[in-house]
Amino acid sequence: MQVAQRIVVAGGGTAGWMTAAALARTLGKTVAITLVESDAIGTVGVGESTIPPLANFNRVLGISEADFMRATQATFKLGILFDGWRDGTDRYFHSFGVTGRDHWSAGFQHFWMHGKTQGRDEPYDDYCLELVAAMAGKFAHLPNERMNYAYQLDSTLYARFLRTMAEGDGVTRIEGRIDEVELDGENGHIAALQLDSGKRIEGDLFIDCTGFRALLMEGALHAGFDDWTHYLPCDSAIAVQTDNIAPPVPFTRAMTHDAGWQWRIPLQHRTGNGIVYCSGYLDHDAAEERLLGNVEGAVRTKPNRLRFRAGARRKQWYRNCIAIGLAGGFMEPLESTSIHLIQRAVLRVIRMLPAGRISERDVAEFNEQQMTDMLQIRDFLVLHYVATERRDSPFWRLCADLPIPDTLAQKIELFRETGRVFRKNEELFAENSWVQVMMGQGIIPQSYHPVAGKLSEDELTHLLGGLRQDVAHTVASLPAHGDYVARYCGAS
Ligand code: FAD
Repeated sequence: MQVAQRIVVAGGGTAGWMTAAALARTLGKTVAITLVESDAIGTVGVGESTIPPLANFNRVLGISEADFMRATQATFKLGILFDGWRDGTDRYFHSFGVTGRDHWSAGFQHFWMHGKTQGRDEPYDDYCLELVAAMAGKFAHLPNERMNYAYQLDSTLYARFLRTMAEGDGVTRIEGRIDEVELDGENGHIAALQLDSGKRIEGDLFIDCTGFRALLMEGALHAGFDDWTHYLPCDSAIAVQTDNIAPPVPFTRAMTHDAGWQWRIPLQHRTGNGIVYCSGYLDHDAAEERLLGNVEGAVRTKPNRLRFRAGARRKQWYRNCIAIGLAGGFMEPLESTSIHLIQRAVLRVIRMLPAGRISERDVAEFNEQQMTDMLQIRDFLVLHYVATERRDSPFWRLCADLPIPDTLAQKIELFRETGRVFRKNEELFAENSWVQVMMGQGIIPQSYHPVAGKLSEDELTHLLGGLRQDVAHTVASLPAHGDYVARYCGAS
């Protein structure tokens, strides 16, 4: 096989257009990129909450943040408010910020816990700027990127925005339905896509972005699927959009119900809502009724019913095909990680683009890195279910008995015993995320690092009091999030 000169992207959802736009912008005329999509089939039409690295992706592509936010009706996101995940009545916040200040030898939670033993009862949350700002409904860009944030956006509009950019950068878009994937009789590589129009599209490297169908990777290459439903049993979702009834808040909500959970994601012009559930415990009509009974604002779209299976394609890169987006696998959007996995895959494709023949070492490296990301995210999602104390419905009783991956069990028990969390292999979710979610779910360490105990009472008061005051003062000076977005996007 020669240099990958002809790259064919199959599918034009968020994954397809993120891939095409990034390849075209980065590689320019060294490759010829063709994207095939079918308006008749359409896209999955959901996916609104993201995590901070998306800003880097946009930066790599040279996209202005204000243009992007205007085009996608985006709001800022400082984290996720989890309702009812511990016992049904509680709430906790997983923010994108860092709580307090770490010492090199120990995370801030150790110092906070020492403070507790000394009679200080201020909540752990008070030391996190992003968290306090989110709960106050405030936001601003701060010097030195002090506020860490992501976006809540309309992913269909994002795909449209990227399409304009990609076509401007030379990507050829072909409208049509892929009817057949033609394999090379000698090496089993994909040779061409046959469209319903009779058109034949040849390529050297094929990117499968055909969504849950995975037409190339599964349909033609039968790469296989690792099913993770025994860890993440929810298998259905219904999405619906509503009018905003108040200025948008800078956070996503994940609210439990007795057979799963519900999301609420405020954009500039509307709110995205959806219910995620396990169909063995709630039928689809009842789920729809429940969702419609728990939205704010007038409903503006027909409920969109979706079925899914948690898991990952066994090979993300196989022969001359790479699966990106839903074609590569899916985990429920509890921590808003799918678009991020697209971004990771696209940047990896660029880094490992074949310079001649496809190297099997590149393929192995790609698969290992992508699978590591997915397994780490899987563990983080599973944490929310297995650490619950809820036993009030058959679904939550099932969750209490779910198997725990060994890697996750080690993390939970280490934290419970010592208060320590370690980030491994460039893991997406850093210590702060694990600590906030574990404590939010009720896992409280039994001890803390001795270095925290060395602080005198004065030093402790100075440290904790100073940090807390700084957060409170900074938040008091911030504008309301809705006003800030309107000004920033020039929409007011
Ligand atoms: P799709 O949008 O399904 O696109 C598939 C493309 O392939 C389409 O263009 C289609 O026309 C084309 N295609 C398919 N078959 C053919 C054919 N035969 N011929 C030609 N073209 C074809 N992600 C997040 O990051 N945050 C979230 O909050 C979030 N929420 C989600 C909630 C739910 C319920 C679900 C299911 C997903 C959610 N996601 C979320 C994931 C996110 O929606 C997807 O990762 C993202 O939209 C990318 O989808 P995709 O492009 O892979 O697939």
